[in-house]
Amino acid sequence: MSVQALPYWQDTAATAPLSRPPLPARVDVVIVGAGYTGLSAARETALAGASTLVLEGGKLGTGCSGRNGGQVAHSIKPSFAALSARYGQRRAHAIVAEGFHAMAHLRTLATAPGIDFDWQQRGCFFGAHTPRHFASMAREAENQPPGLEQRISVLTRADQRSEIDSDYYHGGLVYHDDACVDPIRLLSVLARRAREAGVVVHEGCLVYAIRRDGAGFSVATAQGTVSARKVLVATNGYSGALSPWLRRRVIPIGSYQIATEPLGSERVRALIPRGRNIVDSRRVVVYYRPSPDGSRIIFGGRAALREKDPLTSVPRLRAMLTEVFPQLHAVAISHAWVGWVAYTFDKLPHLGEHDGIHYCMGYCGQGVPLAPYFGQRIGQQMMGIAAGRTALDGLPFPSRPYYLGTPWFLAPSVWAYRTMDALGV
Ligand SMILES: Cc1cc2nc3c(=O)[nH]c(=O)nc-3n(C[C@H](O)[C@H](O)[C@H](O)COP(=O)(O)OP(=O)(O)OC[C@H]3O[C@@H](n4cnc5c(N)ncnc54)[C@H](O)[C@@H]3O)c2cc1C
Repeated sequence: MSVQALPYWQDTAATAPLSRPPLPARVDVVIVGAGYTGLSAARETALAGASTLVLEGGKLGTGCSGRNGGQVAHSIKPSFAALSARYGQRRAHAIVAEGFHAMAHLRTLATAPGIDFDWQQRGCFFGAHTPRHFASMAREAENQPPGLEQRISVLTRADQRSEIDSDYYHGGLVYHDDACVDPIRLLSVLARRAREAGVVVHEGCLVYAIRRDGAGFSVATAQGTVSARKVLVATNGYSGALSPWLRRRVIPIGSYQIATEPLGSERVRALIPRGRNIVDSRRVVVYYRPSPDGSRIIFGGRAALREKDPLTSVPRLRAMLTEVFPQLHAVAISHAWVGWVAYTFDKLPHLGEHDGIHYCMGYCGQGVPLAPYFGQRIGQQMMGIAAGRTALDGLPFPSRPYYLGTPWFLAPSVWAYRTMDALGV
């Protein structure tokens, strides 16, 4: 079987021709980037009465929102303890609670009438890579911050077969409220809702420059120039030369995925009996889940350091998969793809305004719930709507000296993390 260099989701989704309506000379709001963030923000600005144009350099799904793993978790990365040390307990509580709000936002959308992006609330198994990891994971599960508790079960290694047909892990945790979605269907739902609110989406329209022009902005694109009163940059891991200030603040990290050939739902159910998402405690994390139809395994991780061709990552990802499931030693891979996740130096998402230009990005690999939620919030903030306030507002968006957008420090860090993972420390 030959491997297609294409996200599995995009193979099964209906393809639409590029949407390129005539570019207007002037609008109230221009949004750069048509992922979950940009489309969610656009709906809010349009609902508040602003003529809104979304400009997408590629097509819908070019960015992370068309190529992620579809896993949904309570997802503010730094721990409550780490945030408390930085900002005090009150602010830390409010920041972690934003992850809960994001999850609730997506759950509410998923269960609204006429909406279907294959939301399945089956939970997640978080496998411990070492006995030491297991002990510390179990301790954390038993000492959750009051008011921020998740439904978590602790499973010893002897019990974990109820979750996974493998002895690879040293026990783990089950997060019962986690869910999964079909990422491209979620993107289509957000695009449809934005359009229904009056948003115009223009694909194949790279934005080259945003310049001050009186009280507003002049936005230079591949198709011409548009004037706008307000601009939002929602380019996340695909933030390029357009904003050197943002580029110095997000760290694009490649995440690679493969889909197995159809294995049959019985075989997949034997491997992952409860159909949950699976992630593990390695520093160079891997994540996997059954496909929405239950017939394949979609497996992802950081397989290469600099490589952009997803096909070259197939042998390494396949080896990582068969390390967990040796019984899949002969499995064929049907699809392979890569996308650029946006990390930040403080591991928090950031939204706000710099030099009058709004931004919202940096979900650190957790954007399936966070991007639709913070996208909605920044759209509301742009229109001066009080509901748009968040606990992250006003936090400094850190950079590092000598960092201009090329993460030169990544290769040595990943190499060191891999070594520690291999040594089991
Ligand atoms: C392989 C992979 C797996 C992932 N798995 C998960 C997961 O399981 N769970 C989870 O929560 N998160 C996951 N993520 C992260 C998640 O997908 C993202 O955080 C989320 O989709 C970000 O949405 P966004 O709208 O901010 O950015 P994107 O969807 O990346 O959209 C940004 C858009 O901006 C456009 N753009 C950039 N520059 C310009 C320009 N100058 N002009 C016009 N357009 C421009 C790009 O073409 C792109 O379409 C994963 C990411 C990847 C890559």
